[in-house]
Amino acid sequence: MNVLSNVYPTAALREADARHHWHPFTDTAALNVEGARVIVAADGVWLTDSDGNRILDGMAGLWCTNIGHGREEIAEAVYAQMKELGYYNTFFKTTHPPVIKLSELLSEVTPPHLNRVFFCGSGSEANDTIVRMVRTYWQTKGKPEKQTIISRHNAYHGSTVAGASLGGMGGMHAQGGLPIPGIHHIAQPYWYGEGGDLSPEEFGLWAARELERAIDALGEDKVAAFIAEPIQGAGGVIVPPDSYWPEIKRICSEREILFIADEVICGFGRLGAWFGSDYYGLKPDLMPIAKGLSSGYLPIGGVMMADHVAETLEQGGEFAHGYTYSGHPVCCAAAIANINILKREGIVERVASDTGPYLQRKWLALGEHPLVGEARMVGMVGALELAPAKPDRTKRFEPVGDVGTLCRDISFKNGLVMRAVRDSMIVSPPLVITREEIDDFIERVEKTLDATLSELT
Ligand code: PLP
Repeated sequence: MNVLSNVYPTAALREADARHHWHPFTDTAALNVEGARVIVAADGVWLTDSDGNRILDGMAGLWCTNIGHGREEIAEAVYAQMKELGYYNTFFKTTHPPVIKLSELLSEVTPPHLNRVFFCGSGSEANDTIVRMVRTYWQTKGKPEKQTIISRHNAYHGSTVAGASLGGMGGMHAQGGLPIPGIHHIAQPYWYGEGGDLSPEEFGLWAARELERAIDALGEDKVAAFIAEPIQGAGGVIVPPDSYWPEIKRICSEREILFIADEVICGFGRLGAWFGSDYYGLKPDLMPIAKGLSSGYLPIGGVMMADHVAETLEQGGEFAHGYTYSGHPVCCAAAIANINILKREGIVERVASDTGPYLQRKWLALGEHPLVGEARMVGMVGALELAPAKPDRTKRFEPVGDVGTLCRDISFKNGLVMRAVRDSMIVSPPLVITREEIDDFIERVEKTLDATLSELT
């Protein structure tokens, strides 16, 4: 239990939180009636709240704590770096050992054609950076009219103005006059929700060819890039049908556009491969990374650049873009220690061959539960579509989202964090979860589904 929660009881913490803290992605009025849950400590896959409850972190924080919570090695690396060089910038021809070492490590673990990295503080900043990079790329190539970036409905690419514009979340666009000009959204490969009478394979091809149709409609000479998450995370863990990515690859290879694989969630082992691009055999020109880069211990993001992108931008003179914290030495030290742990402990390989398949088998079996219309999981990211009339995919709970919220709240009472997206339950546990912890995790999910079902009947 930490010092603050010893001094202040939960009620006092909640009251001060409500008075002074404005939460992200939160209905503040509703929160302040309920009071925030106060997390005071974490270790491995377990969180501890201010009342001493232990809760299994089924979301790895926000899809990020891949190596698990409470790793001393990260704390030590950060402490040592702070004493050595707590801050210096990387602007104006300056560098430092941690940023060099991390850049080198990243070119080793990412796909072989990505050898240069631009650093920033988050996934959103990475995607903001990318908007300027791809447009500058085409400008430098003498094609300044290639400006439009194609993205997908229900995608999530961050909360900054450009990140939220690239994203395809209607609720986010409604606040603040988004999207910015030059962003075009096409269908997502969400067979369960939008596949109609088509088979998954037919629908995957149809959704991929939406890209081709959009390029034709907009004019290839106007399109700069296509951005997509290998598996859409925040949109509800949308696992594309097998036909989708090969067809997108065909289209990208035939058309003169850049391809951006947003690996902010899928990167650093989430799918049982180092990157979603490895898992699906993609060859992105640009690859935003964050989250699992430091396992969330300190904020850091980056844009991995294909050699031809870096070489083209180099010809354009100064790239007038950067953040005070681009390549922050202490965040780099945390990321280096994190990648070393992932490598040394063979965490990605274990997810691929042992704990990932073990969890997936148990998770997919939950598809038999009367409340579950579909269970999906790749590596260690999954979803359960809660449905009122399985196997009819067209029937939805009304209003959408209430059952998901109910299930999420029951889950928390059962000592398990699951996230609700509409009426889907989403999980993305720390990649270090053991078989015994997976058994415990699945039991909690079953108990939660049963309790949710009995509330509904
Ligand atoms: N891209 C994807 C795919 C994400 O899931 C997220 C965050 O969830 C982001 C970008 C934005 O990252 P951040 O929250 O670090 O700004």
